[in-house]
Amino acid sequence: MPAMHSVPAPQHVAVIGAGMVGLATAWFLQERGVQVTVLDRTGVAAGASWGNAGWLTPGITTPLPEPAVLRYGLRAVLSPSSPVYVPPRADARLLRFLAGFARHSTPSKWRTAMQAYIPMNRRAFEAFDALEAGGVASMTNEAKSFIAAYRTEAERSVLLDELGHIHSAGQEIEFDVLTGAEAREVEPSLSDDIGAAIRLHGQRFINPGHYMHALADSVRARGGSLVTGADVVNVRDEGAGVRVVTSAGADERYDALVLATGTWLGELARRFGVRTVVQAGRGYSFSVAIEHVPAGPVYFPAQRVACTPLGDRLRVAGMMEFRSAEAPLDRRRILAIAEAARPLLRGADLDARTDEWVGARPCTPDGLPLIGRTGSPRVFAAGGHGMWGITLGPLTGRLLAEQITSGHQPAEIRPFDPLR
Ligand SMILES: Cc1cc2nc3c(=O)[nH]c(=O)nc-3n(C[C@H](O)[C@H](O)[C@H](O)COP(=O)(O)OP(=O)(O)OC[C@H]3O[C@@H](n4cnc5c(N)ncnc54)[C@H](O)[C@@H]3O)c2cc1C
Repeated sequence: MPAMHSVPAPQHVAVIGAGMVGLATAWFLQERGVQVTVLDRTGVAAGASWGNAGWLTPGITTPLPEPAVLRYGLRAVLSPSSPVYVPPRADARLLRFLAGFARHSTPSKWRTAMQAYIPMNRRAFEAFDALEAGGVASMTNEAKSFIAAYRTEAERSVLLDELGHIHSAGQEIEFDVLTGAEAREVEPSLSDDIGAAIRLHGQRFINPGHYMHALADSVRARGGSLVTGADVVNVRDEGAGVRVVTSAGADERYDALVLATGTWLGELARRFGVRTVVQAGRGYSFSVAIEHVPAGPVYFPAQRVACTPLGDRLRVAGMMEFRSAEAPLDRRRILAIAEAARPLLRGADLDARTDEWVGARPCTPDGLPLIGRTGSPRVFAAGGHGMWGITLGPLTGRLLAEQITSGHQPAEIRPFDPLR
């Protein structure tokens, strides 16, 4: 079938945002012969794509709004040590987000959203494999063990139920149910407090900072330009092209544009008809030395703490703070994560933390990302992946590059239409 374009296929595309989503989109556009310029107001991985947990876990990639999150959120959001936090005085945008999030936290909305995720999850690794085969010099690691660990069997039942829902929705995920002693045998870094666990199979992980820089290097090596310190303040569709204006007064014209600005997506996308609120769901992380570095991610779901081996250290991450992306790092949250992890890990030096970090997950009220054409045929949105922008970033880039160059919207991204 001939390509159907409302505009000619672009030759030079600007991508705003050098996180996982922007860099992957730029890379896959290059695969299709497009010249790319990536602009970021700070630099590579300046947003959420640096200090995250680096899990590539399509087996458990599910919509964030779900009945249990809502129940939990309403119960415990106001305490500084709670893993989910909402400021007592929310602004209008946050209230809109929370109302939408609550509306989508029903079993039937979850099932519908899950159906949108499944085709993406099936192909998520394929996009990583294409990046690796194409020369990105940072590998994905197979998670030799991926343990979700609990104090009690009762706590474990929450994830077992969720795995049941995932399975009923049609997504395969293999797992074993372990006792505390069995879990410690697989993963000696777990403490004696652990009394029950689940081992997930077939998942992977990366060192996100390394990976982003390797991806950026590959974009450059293939002839792309990467402009850092470029704060894009205005974008105009001029009919035959798109004008991109930065705060420093640079003013360049491109054939098309991709907005991959993470939690800040709404700022530039709104004027092109994207009405979905993108709200910062802030998370924190740090890394510590540990006697036995785990062979894969360790997850403490009851505490909402995610651990990932990064070389000879362990990254410990957690928290979901629905507040401004610009708010300063709140030290109480770092301490709360360390205290939650302390009794559960063996041999981890949780007082000698390095790389303390806060970053903002780009969350949407319906839990679905925004991927595709906006109200302008030359302006595309790519973001809003919430908890899963690392797992789904490369496939997002691959499918969006297909849409931009062919004019066809791939079926997988239809539910993520930015104009919904
Ligand atoms: C604690 C934590 C743990 C997580 N763990 C995982 C995980 O294990 N697995 C997973 O899949 N996901 C995880 N996530 C989610 C994941 O990190 C995000 O979904 C993903 O990084 C979003 O990528 P992005 O490219 O859309 O945005 P970002 O990485 O935030 O990139 C956006 C970029 O746009 C730039 N920018 C913004 N506005 C402008 C402008 N006007 N002009 C120029 N540049 C601009 C910013 O500087 C930034 O570099 C986690 C998140 C957190 C916080």
